[in-house]
Amino acid sequence: MYEYLTAIGQDSHRFEEASGSEEYSKPLVMGGIEIPDIEGFEANSDGDVVLHALTNAVSGITGINILGAVADDMCLAQSITDSREYLKCALDGLGDDRIVHVSFSVECKKPVLAPYIAEIKASVASLLGIRESSIGFTATSGEGLTDFGRGLGAQVLCSITVRRKSVDI
Ligand SMILES: [Zn+2]
Repeated sequence: MYEYLTAIGQDSHRFEEASGSEEYSKPLVMGGIEIPDIEGFEANSDGDVVLHALTNAVSGITGINILGAVADDMCLAQSITDSREYLKCALDGLGDDRIVHVSFSVECKKPVLAPYIAEIKASVASLLGIRESSIGFTATSGEGLTDFGRGLGAQVLCSITVRRKSVDI
């Protein structure tokens, strides 16, 4: 017998200030892929707002918080800035629990994500070991009502569904 658990994660980042040069100092990374021709996010890490929201959702199941002290230590003490490593650290806490579905909802004016959604889904599916069809991903500019919708940064909400073997009583 199985029971099903759900958890939500959220994250947001602002874009780095434009340096005035043609070259961006840091690539924009979302869902483990680089999106070209746009400035990256302000963060000690790669600022992957999609994977950070997912990592927080996993923490919502395990009760083990990774973003914050653990990721800061990985980043500052061990120079690990690849957010896929923070996600893997969170996934380690799942034990036998299995993620069966993930849903992302992104609010940003830029980048326009539609051309990248398939690639992001493939990247996240590979990191989680689930099918791409088990991942939902929507993006909106929210009619410019927030700073995300006005192009200052991006916010991501992520919900996950996890299957756990019930303990027989
Ligand atoms: Zn973050």
